[in-house]
Amino acid sequence: MSADRGTLLIISGPSGSGKTSVIEKLRAHPRVRVSVSVATRPPREGEVDGRDYTFVSRDDFLAMKEEGRFVETNDVFTNGNLYGSLKSELNEALAEPGLVYIMEVDVVGARNIRDAGYEGLHVFIAPPSREVLETRLRRRGTDDEAAIAKRLGRAAEERRLAEEDGAVIVVNDELDRAVEQIMDETGLSPLPS
Ligand code: 5GP
Repeated sequence: MSADRGTLLIISGPSGSGKTSVIEKLRAHPRVRVSVSVATRPPREGEVDGRDYTFVSRDDFLAMKEEGRFVETNDVFTNGNLYGSLKSELNEALAEPGLVYIMEVDVVGARNIRDAGYEGLHVFIAPPSREVLETRLRRRGTDDEAAIAKRLGRAAEERRLAEEDGAVIVVNDELDRAVEQIMDETGLSPLPS
């Protein structure tokens, strides 16, 4: 990690891999900032506008895209909604010495960020098994059967792409261990317990 610049940590992983819980833990670290993507889907229960996402209409999203404000926008591993990460936020974060800036995107987004010329560590959060992933998705209760089947089908393909990209694969069988492994990879000191 460079001392005079921020570090980019890209986190991807299938829905239900526990990505969000991992990021919630990392967020508590004083040197971590989590990127807020722009999204066109409605907020889920408990999600806060401006914290989890900046929620906008499709028209507003397309206007922002036209203005060139995104580093990348989502491609295939999402759900018909549009997601994008802001160039301005990323550049500001990289200018802050010692900061670790987390971007949570799909695997194609991870590839596109690096193709856009940004260096960063890509961590892919993998569920322990397909069965565990299926149980987590059902328990979450936000998807119907068809959506669950689709997500399961995509998960393996996402992992394949992440491996192809040289991502660090972190198996999330135990949350604290997964978080520790990521902190190690990024040179973050442990949080006081
Ligand atoms: P969800 O709707 O479940 O919050 O997110 C759906 C998917 O969109 C997840 O895989 C998430 O990582 C991805 N995603 C969220 N924000 C962005 C973004 O700015 N860019 C890209 N490429 N994917 C995103």
